[in-house]
Amino acid sequence: MIYYKTREEIELIRKSCLLVSATLAEVAKFLKPGISTLEVDTMAEKFIRDHGATPSFKNYRGFPFACCISTNDAVVHGFPNQVLLKEGDVVSVDVGAYMNGFHGDSAYTFALRQASPDVKQLLKVTKESLYKGIEKAIAGNRVGDISFAIQEYTEKQFGYGVVRELVGHGLGRHLHEDPQVPNYGRRGTGMKLREGLVIAIEPMINMGSKDVYHDDDGWTVRTKDGKASAHFEHSISVQRSKADILSSFAEIEKNEKANPNLESDY
Ligand code: MG
Ligand code: MG
Repeated sequence: MIYYKTREEIELIRKSCLLVSATLAEVAKFLKPGISTLEVDTMAEKFIRDHGATPSFKNYRGFPFACCISTNDAVVHGFPNQVLLKEGDVVSVDVGAYMNGFHGDSAYTFALRQASPDVKQLLKVTKESLYKGIEKAIAGNRVGDISFAIQEYTEKQFGYGVVRELVGHGLGRHLHEDPQVPNYGRRGTGMKLREGLVIAIEPMINMGSKDVYHDDDGWTVRTKDGKASAHFEHSISVQRSKADILSSFAEIEKNEKANPNLESDY
């Protein structure tokens, strides 16, 4: 079942998305070696609640935390924990916020200072692939056009692994709505995109092979080869000539640059 959104509904989703973006911007100020991802989660949850929203992920199908925080070989759905972050760590933070009846969903991957050039390239290319997918998210195109653009760039041009088991999704009154938006696929296939469709596009890209497994906690998805993975996500609404990006990386990137504990020169 596809729910196309009205103008008013899209504006409410934008509000939720921008709160998610503001939360991630706080995370960008906060991250440094020596703190735990549990501290990040606690801070983010307070920020979301202080702004009149609830964290979408908390208790979603039993997920026990406000944010998914996935470090290094963890791809997505990582549990925040008490392990202290260290130099060179890759930290993917996925946040959802629910208010006014609508969810916002966005994710960003940070690299702590002293990250390797390989890691920095992975982050750069994964973020670029997100925008290549978004470029294709216009009315008249098909879901497969988005998928193909992401896969072509990351896999063909850089030899990275595109995770198959997890995909982007529709978004609105429910955190996960139809359609599924895979990060791999063929051009000209899949559902036709129409104005008012709101989707989260979220490439999950591995430095090595595409193969992943579930951790014993039942949630955390990790790379089989133990290499790093990156995850960037925007929620967008499909429009005629250009997608409307409802979340924003502007503040996150500003704070990332200003934080000497984070890599930003990539
Ligand atoms: Mg997300
Ligand atoms: Mg999502």
